[in-house]
Amino acid sequence: MTTLFPPQFVDVLVPVALDQAYSYRVPPGMELKPGDIVNVPLGARSTTGVVWADNVTIRPGLHNRMKEVEEKLDLPPMKPELRKFVDWLSGYTLSPRGMVLRMCLRMGDLGPEREKVGVRLVGPKPERMTTARMRVLNALADGMVRSKSDAAHEAGVSAGVINGLIDEGTLDTVVLQAEPVARPPDPEHKVPDFSEAQQKAADGLREKVANGGFSVSLIDGVTGSGKTEVYFEAVAEAVRRGKQVLILMPEIALTAQFLERFTQRFGVPPAEWHSQISPRKRARCWAAVAANEAPVVVGARSALFLPYADLGLIVIDEEHDPAYKQEDGVRYHARDMAVVRARENKIPIVLASATPSVESEVNARRGRYTHVHLPERFGGQHLPSVEAIDLRREGPPRGRFVSPRLAEAVKNTLERGDQALLFLNRRGFAPLTLCNSCGHRMACQNCDAWLVDHRFKRRLVCHHCGFSQPLPEQCPKCAAKGSFVAVGPGVERLEQEAAELFPGARILVLSSDLVESVERLRQELEDVAEGRFDIVIGTQLVAKGHHFPKLNLVGIVDADLGLANGDPRAAERSFQMLHQVVGRAGREEGRGYGFLQTHQPEHPVMKALIAQDRDAFYTAEIEVREKTGYPPFGRLASLLVSGGDKHETEGFARKLAAISPLDEQVKVLGPAEAPLALVRGRFRYRLLVKAPRNYDLSAFLRDWLAAAPKTKGTLKLEVDVDPQSFF
Ligand code: ADP
Ligand code: ZN
Repeated sequence: MTTLFPPQFVDVLVPVALDQAYSYRVPPGMELKPGDIVNVPLGARSTTGVVWADNVTIRPGLHNRMKEVEEKLDLPPMKPELRKFVDWLSGYTLSPRGMVLRMCLRMGDLGPEREKVGVRLVGPKPERMTTARMRVLNALADGMVRSKSDAAHEAGVSAGVINGLIDEGTLDTVVLQAEPVARPPDPEHKVPDFSEAQQKAADGLREKVANGGFSVSLIDGVTGSGKTEVYFEAVAEAVRRGKQVLILMPEIALTAQFLERFTQRFGVPPAEWHSQISPRKRARCWAAVAANEAPVVVGARSALFLPYADLGLIVIDEEHDPAYKQEDGVRYHARDMAVVRARENKIPIVLASATPSVESEVNARRGRYTHVHLPERFGGQHLPSVEAIDLRREGPPRGRFVSPRLAEAVKNTLERGDQALLFLNRRGFAPLTLCNSCGHRMACQNCDAWLVDHRFKRRLVCHHCGFSQPLPEQCPKCAAKGSFVAVGPGVERLEQEAAELFPGARILVLSSDLVESVERLRQELEDVAEGRFDIVIGTQLVAKGHHFPKLNLVGIVDADLGLANGDPRAAERSFQMLHQVVGRAGREEGRGYGFLQTHQPEHPVMKALIAQDRDAFYTAEIEVREKTGYPPFGRLASLLVSGGDKHETEGFARKLAAISPLDEQVKVLGPAEAPLALVRGRFRYRLLVKAPRNYDLSAFLRDWLAAAPKTKGTLKLEVDVDPQSFF
């Protein structure tokens, strides 16, 4: 028999930290093609993988040693474009292909769907009548179908009473249809009346979708200019053509208001995909996307790896947001990879931002991206007027953080019945705790970092490793008692100050460490939008996307905070964040005001914000990047060596630098101690690689690392192509 049908072999890629696919024998009767999803034995267990190649030749001598594919799963095969994307992304980021595949196979628990049973009143009264039973009859008198638990809840009885009535034939059971993952959006549900500029932008995008093919468009327009409404027209066009749409959002918290807006425009909510959805929902969403039953998916960056059956458009909202970069495991930038995926799929992609990344801005200015500009706020709303408060001349009193002028402005705002936002990108009460008698600073025992005072939790916390301890009774160094003082502000401390400055004001602190759940956060954001708070004190959590109609004043408590680090993108990030936060003011009712408390009002970032001259900022920043060869005019990669032993870690980093391939186009800088030289008990050294714009940095790194010594013991080498973080 074996001679009649020579055994077939396939290569299967499995979702583990391996680059190569393994060969398996195809059992008789099974037919496998590339893309098929299969279970294969891997070591002692069984793993779900994907056929990467068929008709693989294996030396006859090895035939009998090959393990067999166990099962072909009843799932749509992974499409060639997604497999190509996996290969490409792996090659680019230097992550094992198996790890990239793993991001595509997060289909959750695909176990059998449990049927949901509903009940309705059909029949004869039960022989034995009780008050509980009577309540059920009354509650279900309308003859409508309800789930068992709803019926019990409405009647105020236990499930047992319901079951009893089913046994008696009084209630009838009905199998409830599982709610679909997504109902079809109606592209004509509610089309807004566009302004002329909006209409032109919308028409342009619609045309891109209609024509198909790869293109990148950058919609750039101030907050409130209608970017979302405009890209919804592109979404509508894709839906009309039966194509799927992916809309990426940088943060889950942002999706709440978004789902609402989407529903207003299209009549139904989109499918949702992110880490907070339950495994069962995840499974259904994954399957629906693969079966072309989810027309529009809104998700976090991982939604990029879903098995779209017929993707026709990608939208990246807030494209400049650093949260698009995944900083562990496979280090990829979801915006950049989305552009790659759009190219593979030959479809249009739309990037939207009020403050585009310098990379995208350069691409737009040079004509590589279609530039869609929305110059003004919808309905003629003014942008907030922005003023600097020079902390060198009119700062707050010692130990206080709100200057008299800002306090006055907040007071006026509250008197008008409007809301104010005080922005400070620092969690906790105070960033530093110091002994007043010996100067000792409370530091983390695992990291090169100060402990942050979190009064709400009554602990000092390390923001890098999570280590925490209560504030000691006495100074560990000089044994003085009660000598600790808090230095500098965090949002919790600001709350204290605001409560004293504005008695009676309803204050909400929004900070990621205080968020108990996504639902809770959604509720709080809605409370703010509905005007149930007067003052919001927040970290970057509030910077993005939210729409608060009554918010008319934004005070930036420390505008210099983001400028001080050695990150090549510090100015860009500061500008984006401050612009975004100030843009929260005056979006709907009345005029908005922004105040920047700063020690350097003449800094280009502050000047651009005050003059509302966005283009001046980009022009200046682009010039700096061009001169220094930083992205997008040059390319960077970071090699971070970390380990438990300082000497050994540094030694390894030096060895690595010593063997770097010679190439006059490439500069290898370092190793140098990383700005955070110790995290979680690991010492950190960084090498920075700088290359020209079109240089194949991934290939250079591959050659280099192939020749590098293997990491042993606690040593670890992390490669980051196009790094966003330099800590
Ligand atoms: P952006 O995404 O640029 O911040 P949005 O699309 O969120 O702007 O629009 C800001 C606000 O203005 C939203 O409440 C939106 O519904 C409203 N809006 C924008 N354009 C229109 C329009 N043409 N008709 C009605 N409302 C609009
Ligand atoms: Zn720590």
